[in-house]
Amino acid sequence: MRASLDTVRDWVSTSRRIVVLSGAGISTESGIPDFRGPNGLWTRDPDAEKLSDIRYYLADSEVRRKAWLKRLPNPGWTAQPNAGHKAIVELERRGQLHALITQNIDGLHQKAGTSPERVIEVHGTMHSVLCWDCGATGPMLPVLERVRGGEDDPQCTDCGGILKSATILFGEGLKPGVMERALQAAVEADLLIAVGSTLQVYPVAGVVPAAKAAGARLVIVNADPTQFDRIADAVLHRPIGETLSKLVGRINLPER
Ligand code: NAD
Ligand code: ZN
Repeated sequence: MRASLDTVRDWVSTSRRIVVLSGAGISTESGIPDFRGPNGLWTRDPDAEKLSDIRYYLADSEVRRKAWLKRLPNPGWTAQPNAGHKAIVELERRGQLHALITQNIDGLHQKAGTSPERVIEVHGTMHSVLCWDCGATGPMLPVLERVRGGEDDPQCTDCGGILKSATILFGEGLKPGVMERALQAAVEADLLIAVGSTLQVYPVAGVVPAAKAAGARLVIVNADPTQFDRIADAVLHRPIGETLSKLVGRINLPER
């Protein structure tokens, strides 16, 4: 029989090395749509997937123009963390959070108060830019100002190369060492909570069976089923913010 919410709450309160794996679903309650949920960006507009593919991005300046224009009104610039992000901050405050592996690029975990050194951003961050040609990096906001000022395909100021958001697009490799860190944390966990992800994107989804095989309990919190539900100790098909708050119990964070 699958464990109930109350049982999972007991597991959370007695675990000492919790690893959370978060996906786009944890940020929908902050107003940032996911990709594959019922109201997801790709569910509504399959063409949008092209803007997230490095091959189209590098080959076609029209794709880059569209990507930059779409970035300007992104809700991610003003979104605020929600109860789900805050519950994870509380776990860290209590000394129970071993690592937070996130597929998200929105920076909301850090904005909520999770220490940056505990966050493993496997898919990068939308708050920085990267030059494809010389590897220079920098903050996103000044580049968005250039786009607002009329540069529809802004180039690297160092080398004139193609600029992109410092996020991992489809067809692009992950940053060296990131997956190794994520897998290391996963095998050291006593409890893995996978939250708000369809667990379809590899290699990061591999963290889930790796943690389980190394002896961690596995809890999945997600509205939709995932391929790993069958190996999970508990599957909670419930809203994320409310559920994580219940699992963590009293949240005692200073006002930020
Ligand atoms: P996904 O879009 O594939 O799936 C999100 C899952 O969360 C869905 O199954 C959906 O049903 C569930 N969900 C959404 N809101 C929920 C809620 N309030 N309560 C319970 N469940 C909820 O997510 P993914 O696999 O994490 O995303 C694919 C890739 O897209 C990621 O690798 C990530 O890099 C990127 N992405 C990031 C963001 C972000 O940073 N916020 C947003 C969209 C996509
Ligand atoms: Zn450059």
